[in-house]
Amino acid sequence: MGDAIRPSRGPPLSDHTPLALAQALIRCPSVTPEEGGALSFLADLLSRAGFSVERPVFSEAGTPDIENLYARIGTTGPVLVFAGHTDVVPPGEAASWTQGPFSGAVVDGFLYGRGAVDMKGGIACMLAATLAFLDARGPNFGGSIAFLITGDEEGPAVNGTVKLLAWAKARAERFDHCLLGEPTNPDTLGEMIKIGRRGSLTGRITVHGRQGHVAYPHRAENPIPGLLRLASALIAEPLDGGTAHFDASNLEFTTIDVGNPATNVIPASAKAVFNVRFNDDWTAETLGAEIRTRLEAAAGSAVRFSLDLQPSNSPAFLTRPDAFVDLVADAIQAETGRRPALSTTGGTSDARFIKDACPVIEFGLVGRTMHETDERVALADLERLTAIYGRVLEAYFQTASS
Ligand SMILES: [Zn+2]
Repeated sequence: MGDAIRPSRGPPLSDHTPLALAQALIRCPSVTPEEGGALSFLADLLSRAGFSVERPVFSEAGTPDIENLYARIGTTGPVLVFAGHTDVVPPGEAASWTQGPFSGAVVDGFLYGRGAVDMKGGIACMLAATLAFLDARGPNFGGSIAFLITGDEEGPAVNGTVKLLAWAKARAERFDHCLLGEPTNPDTLGEMIKIGRRGSLTGRITVHGRQGHVAYPHRAENPIPGLLRLASALIAEPLDGGTAHFDASNLEFTTIDVGNPATNVIPASAKAVFNVRFNDDWTAETLGAEIRTRLEAAAGSAVRFSLDLQPSNSPAFLTRPDAFVDLVADAIQAETGRRPALSTTGGTSDARFIKDACPVIEFGLVGRTMHETDERVALADLERLTAIYGRVLEAYFQTASS
């Protein structure tokens, strides 16, 4: 982190291009849970643009305190929220990067740095589009724009968006729509909007046996065949066939463990862990019940097992395609010439929390290098995403004032 520069120490940044904003953010070493100067930078810029800015800090025993940011301009509805996170995953071996991970170096049309696509680059585009929109339209644009930015998305996600939303709700803040700027495009800008996410459920199966000598199996009870029987039963039949906007739910075993170093001992127990990414056919409860039913049927009276289901805080959710989704898709098509796919694939994001406050969809940069060495974003994509967000603002508040 030797090349880190804290931009909040210098004079205010007057260059509001997405490149300059993204560079300033990348130079803040905000590896979760460090704020790294990134939220200070945003706070400074947004308050200069007329936003009222709050910086709530949330705590919980056993997790680090986390700084967050809430900013709003306007007092009336509709309220359009830009959401995101300024924290980043660690860079790993800095020496294996061709450019310093916090350098913000530009080489051959790409901006390098941790967070370039996930998601300081996306935040820079939101900021650049918003500042340009306010320059053009002034503060009375017929609604409100809010920024909901956390420093705890890549970490435990306990003192971030979840608490920030509760905090906003307690202050009677109401939101109409949210655009989350996670990198949603697999390869090319404009490919994909995420309109929902699958839920996640982790389960641990333990089959109980009785330890003994392998030469005297009648005196022991080997748990391994029982575990194999249960595991086979769980993957024998698909959980479902998919739904209108979701792929089929998928169960994957992630480990099977006996931990037995001896070749002449029948072990006392055997364990397996699986994770299910499930669609809107299920809740964590109904899915857990189905899994237990399948295991009990396979076990009969022959296999003694216990099942531990990890309570999931990420149910499947879907933002039904509507006028807001169309508005964003139109903006993307106008800039990129392609109509984005409406997808529910991939891992979880903070959208799983925001969906309880208002309809939320995700659209950001190309995610190909996220969390990798040499994370980078094409300068052309920064420009184009800013133009897309700009079109979203124009269309959203045109609708509002007409
Ligand atoms: Zn992210």
